[in-house]
Amino acid sequence: MAQYVVPAPVQPSVPVVGGGAFPVRRIFCVGRNYVEHALEMGGNPEREPPFFFTKPADAVVTGGADMPYPPQTANLHHEMELVVAIGTGGTDIPVEQALAHVFGYAAGIDMTRRDMQNDAKATRRPWDMSKGFDHSAPISDIVPASALPDPTQGQIVLSVNGVVRQDSDLSKLIWSVAETVAALSSLVAIAPGDLIYTGTPAGVGAVQRGDVMEGTVAGVGTVRTRVV
Ligand code: MN
Repeated sequence: MAQYVVPAPVQPSVPVVGGGAFPVRRIFCVGRNYVEHALEMGGNPEREPPFFFTKPADAVVTGGADMPYPPQTANLHHEMELVVAIGTGGTDIPVEQALAHVFGYAAGIDMTRRDMQNDAKATRRPWDMSKGFDHSAPISDIVPASALPDPTQGQIVLSVNGVVRQDSDLSKLIWSVAETVAALSSLVAIAPGDLIYTGTPAGVGAVQRGDVMEGTVAGVGTVRTRVV
């Protein structure tokens, strides 16, 4: 066994409803995956296949912990999303077999430094620092897929300080969970421990220090965090 020359990283994980923990390997996120959000961001949802970006595994914020307001932004946005937790790996997975690779589901928020992302778009630079910063991936506990056999419908809603900001339905996903898993597996070998944030509906907006975000995916769970 290698003698590490600096302290080995702690394995990030997400609690599982009913017990145990899901070890996070990688975090993938889908770009525009709801028509109304694609339109509000200036995109054309009918011409764009799913595209992905990533966050570090240790960006997860679990158990209702506070989320520190990140540096270098004045426009921190929430993006409420269904999260897919991969249980079985594979490559080039057919759509009809994709759900068999899913361990479970969670409610998550893809936090975004929107001002930095807009600058990145304008200057054709990478999104990494606008999306993959510390504490940028609040997430609920993961519910095993056996308790949610049909991830194709259900309300997805996010409120800030009790006021609803985002309210949509999983049936409005442009690319379904199965199609998203299949598409990602055509780009990389997906593996147990991977999380996929599946994209946000319309209504993204800014939060400030002290705001409490609470997001629910029907039948899946509730993610709650306070910006500090
Ligand atoms: Mn997103």
